[in-house]
Amino acid sequence: MPDAPPVVLDCGTGARNLGHKLVGEAHRELDLLFTHLHMDHVFGFPFFLPIYTPGYRLRIGVPAFSDDEAREKISRYLNGVYHPTRLRDLPSELSFHAVRSGRELRAGGMEVTTVSLKHPGGSMGYRLNHEGRSVVYVTDTSPFANPGRGVLAGEEPPRAEQRIIDFLQGADCVIYDTMYDVDEYLEKMTWGHSYPEYAVGLCEAAGVKHIVLYHHLPDATDEDLDALEAHWASHTAPRVTVAREGETLTVGEA
Ligand SMILES: [Zn+2]
Ligand SMILES: [Zn+2]
Repeated sequence: MPDAPPVVLDCGTGARNLGHKLVGEAHRELDLLFTHLHMDHVFGFPFFLPIYTPGYRLRIGVPAFSDDEAREKISRYLNGVYHPTRLRDLPSELSFHAVRSGRELRAGGMEVTTVSLKHPGGSMGYRLNHEGRSVVYVTDTSPFANPGRGVLAGEEPPRAEQRIIDFLQGADCVIYDTMYDVDEYLEKMTWGHSYPEYAVGLCEAAGVKHIVLYHHLPDATDEDLDALEAHWASHTAPRVTVAREGETLTVGEA
């Protein structure tokens, strides 16, 4: 949406370059939604230029029970110990909002729905809807059924899996955690990450048009990711691509 404020999902290391780009644009406000506060999702926040830009308004959504708790969770990280900046010294205008699973919110002029995911300490999935188009961000989550069970095995999905299928239903684009391959997943089933075969199968069951494989293993090389994309190149329902830094996707194009 060209006139609406941007929506930023999490603040990993990519937030630094993104922040520089955003302050060069006309907007002086944005919505930032955190899925959870594991460090790989907040590392970039102290290096995100909008927070140092006087007058820049940031509405920050954090999974929490109250707005005060949402602020408290971020201020624990920006308290002068882990980074010299303290939250209270920032010249931008920050407001904090509790995000609760199953409750709707608005961000970037869009209606956003939420769902809790399966991850140690929890994680929040976000679905951004606008004029019949939708992008879903589902990261840091284990599969919702064990291998050989659930919708991929042709069974009636367990309740938790059905809830995610409903959440993803008919989405134009789903950005989904596929940190592991299946063998790695079987070794780390409780670590809270997924693998491509599950993510693609789930999106297929939900009638998703395009899935972007995401939350790559830190050890994965560009060649590994090219090979992953090539492996899925002939899959069309959904179409499967691999997330790349700086990539632009247009949602809802034929
Ligand atoms: Zn995590
Ligand atoms: Zn993570």
